[in-house]
Amino acid sequence: MEQYEGKSILRKIAMGRIFFYEKNHAIVKRERVEDSEAELDRFASARREAARELQDLYEKALKEVGESGAAIFEVHQMMLDDEDYCESVCSMIRQEKVSAAYAAAVTGDNFSQMFASMDDNYMKERAADIRDISERLVRVLHGDAADMGSLAEPVILAADDLAPSETVQLDKSKLLGFVTVHGSANSHTAILARTMNIPAVIGIPVKKEWDGKLAIIDGFTGTVIIEPNEDQILKTRAQMEEEARRANLLKKLKGQKTVTQSGREIHLYANIGGVSDTAEALANDAEGIGLFRSEFLYLESDHYPTEDEQFQVYRLVAQNMAGKKVIIRTLDIGADKNVDYFGLDAEENPALGYRAIRICLTQEEIFKTQLRALLRASAFGNISIMFPMIISVKEIVRIKELVEEVKAELRVIGTTYRDVELGVMIETPAAALISRELAKEVDFFSIGTNDLTQYTLAIDRQNPKLDPFYDAHHPAVLRLIEMTVENGHREGIWVGICGELGADMELTKRFVEMGIDELSVSPAFILPLRELIRKIH
Ligand code: PEP
Ligand code: MG
Repeated sequence: MEQYEGKSILRKIAMGRIFFYEKNHAIVKRERVEDSEAELDRFASARREAARELQDLYEKALKEVGESGAAIFEVHQMMLDDEDYCESVCSMIRQEKVSAAYAAAVTGDNFSQMFASMDDNYMKERAADIRDISERLVRVLHGDAADMGSLAEPVILAADDLAPSETVQLDKSKLLGFVTVHGSANSHTAILARTMNIPAVIGIPVKKEWDGKLAIIDGFTGTVIIEPNEDQILKTRAQMEEEARRANLLKKLKGQKTVTQSGREIHLYANIGGVSDTAEALANDAEGIGLFRSEFLYLESDHYPTEDEQFQVYRLVAQNMAGKKVIIRTLDIGADKNVDYFGLDAEENPALGYRAIRICLTQEEIFKTQLRALLRASAFGNISIMFPMIISVKEIVRIKELVEEVKAELRVIGTTYRDVELGVMIETPAAALISRELAKEVDFFSIGTNDLTQYTLAIDRQNPKLDPFYDAHHPAVLRLIEMTVENGHREGIWVGICGELGADMELTKRFVEMGIDELSVSPAFILPLRELIRKIH
């Protein structure tokens, strides 16, 4: 028995055999071939087959993660057509009389080393892509299967890390969970795990010899056990049965309204980070999306996402939700969420620094690009827009001017949009204290309790040492929430919570009593909350 602690991505348990996933780094032997012409034909048909695979992957990714996530497969298709690369493989086959697989593998290595040594970051990243397409060609030439199809039963996948091309190729019906060495909470591995609602633990020193061994991954504690003992197996089985029983009971609540015994209705929406999460939101019967953290789009990209790239994603989310409300929060970058291409300076107090709406209001072109994409997408569904880290009425007045400017620009070019609702996130004490004034300017409030707690208690939410002091139940935080609800209602707008506190069942009754209208939570919390609220008087 071996036991490890890592970082959990989803609170669920899985038990099953490990499938050690190894990238196709097998050494390709140098093989001499007599008939070079026949080998050139084999290479040509392998290229056609690889192109077909990439087209399938592109279409699959387009549906699941949208245009910007699928774009990588277009890049691979272009590289597969690259004249220099193909000519290099063909001349090796002709002159050295070697197999197509060997020529593709060697050329792939040479090209990827050349890319890796370049100064330009974009070109450096292409090194992994050229290796990826060479490996694909070698696999096709060897006639290997592209997926986990040979597996008889579902497995826990253990890997060093997973690239996007690998992630979308995995047969999801055969996956019980993931364990990886690398990856972060925002990585593709994490996003996929959340979408599929399967447990995943990252930061585990995965070993090849685990292949085929029984393992338990506990997403509640972040523990991974290899070759568990009889006691651990029995305990896990009981926990899983209990989870399944509860999930079944909760399914009965699908399609039901979330109303208290006295008839007050609370709207339960889902928090998401990308297009693919809409599947989980719908599966858990979310009435809409209460928080789409749009910065994930920026975090996953190596350049400012273009208006079109953003438009595709927002449109897909709106279309997937088929007329249900979709509240998209504008860029909330800065502090812990940093990306190189923004070129943000290091700061003494990043949480109190140049972030979120402060960036958008000083770099208006970045903001207007996002607003244009959002308004264009509004024609395809029921989109609302909300703004993070607001501290003053002045800010919201300027934001509304910019929204009007963008609308005017769209009218000039004849692009349709809808008059979307605009909302403010209440996540600073300043915003809560002036919520009466802010409420006159917008259509709704969504309380971001994660930041509201951090700023009210003066506690850095990123600092694990301060965890014992981070008390979201603190009366000061609850009083600010109550004040916000009251002020919002006085001005006739609805008020919701989209921070983690929204899913805290110890407080649900309090929130209902305060008059909260909406709770936006991770999809898996929706049905348990519905169950609880329906019992409240
Ligand atoms: C919050 O602060 O409560 C919130 C929902 O935003 P984030 O967690 O993304 O900062
Ligand atoms: Mg926040």
